[in-house]
Amino acid sequence: MTQNNQATTNPLANLKPIGEEPFLLTPGPLTTSMRTKEAMLRDWGSWDGDFKAVTADICRRLVDMCEGGDEYDCVPMQGSGSFSVEAALASFIPRDGKALVLMNGAYGQRAVKTLDYLGRSYVKLDKGDYLPAMPSEVAQILDNDADITHVVIVHCETSSGILNPLQAISDVVMAKGRKLIVDSMSAFGAVHLSVKDIPFECMVSSANKCIEGVPGFGFILAKKSALEAAKGNSHSLCLDVHDQWAAMKKTGQWRFTPPTHTVVAFLEALLQHEEAGGVPGRFARYDNNRQVLISGMRELGFETLLEDRWLSPIITTFFCPADTNFDFQTFYDEIKERGYIIYPGKLTVVDSFRVGCIGQLDADNMRGVLSAIKGACEKMGVSDCSPPPAALEQRKLQNQLAAE
Ligand SMILES: *Cc1c(COP(=O)(O)O)cnc(C)c1O
Repeated sequence: MTQNNQATTNPLANLKPIGEEPFLLTPGPLTTSMRTKEAMLRDWGSWDGDFKAVTADICRRLVDMCEGGDEYDCVPMQGSGSFSVEAALASFIPRDGKALVLMNGAYGQRAVKTLDYLGRSYVKLDKGDYLPAMPSEVAQILDNDADITHVVIVHCETSSGILNPLQAISDVVMAKGRKLIVDSMSAFGAVHLSVKDIPFECMVSSANKCIEGVPGFGFILAKKSALEAAKGNSHSLCLDVHDQWAAMKKTGQWRFTPPTHTVVAFLEALLQHEEAGGVPGRFARYDNNRQVLISGMRELGFETLLEDRWLSPIITTFFCPADTNFDFQTFYDEIKERGYIIYPGKLTVVDSFRVGCIGQLDADNMRGVLSAIKGACEKMGVSDCSPPPAALEQRKLQNQLAAE
């Protein structure tokens, strides 16, 4: 055994065969279809006409998905989803603008942190982990602060799984004459989102969420008028949405090296999305996954963080059992051993874990993870999966506050 044996171990040496790797019950990267993976076997010239046609087709399909017509355009952006969120915040909020950020979890917090880096002024409405911003609160903040130009909202807050009331918030923002920026990263493609109902200034999502592509780029759907007006706002060349848009319009190319394999796989994923019934089809499959998961978990004695009315078909957060035999790392490892990868919690106050419903998963896979979870609990000697009473008490209190 040498000192640096870690450096000489090949992490790829003992993998399971392709197609037998664990299912990812995570909010992305997620389990993709073989057809999507196989689309990555070709190499492409990023300047070549064939690749330019792929980019153009993707953009057209995404604009259609939000019913953007001639008024909206799509700008893909290299990097993970956060790169596109940062690009959008920097490009669409002018340097003398001011944002209201509606926060109820990690992604709202990240938006605020991004604005700090960018030096944009903002106010925040922070609702903690459990609750959405209420339209009346938003109206009041906008009434009291005429300087606010933009409202930033996370559609599905992936840290808790909460599905925020986007329509009602959008109605308030429009009535007050402000602009709406939506992080619909983990909802777009599975939850209906049309500019006919929600005339956002811009919306951000990425390749590796509900469209079920692989990671590597995000995309911004925005009003053409907003894209024109964004000129000169960005602090960053690489993340300048206006510049990426203008160059793409002119040449059909991405300004800098695109993740070619990812882009082509994404088109293949979009075709499958369409064949499976588009957004309603995807919603139906994820929603069924969620129902199978939640009813099975409740049978095992687990409790959801959220009350039923805020649960999304994207991901569900469960409280960790209070049983002292419960250990998250063992739980995780035992479930992985049985073929499924779940996700740790991302809450500030109580211990939790998350199980995703998105990706190439169906009800059988959800029953599979339920049986893996049951097996893991038996192995640990956890006989009671209920959370600490304090967690339930807090949930109840929060919801009473919301009802007032
Ligand atoms: C996934 C996600 C992001 C982006 O995260 P990355 O890790 O940068 O891809 C942003 N917002 C929400 C709501 C998300 O679910």
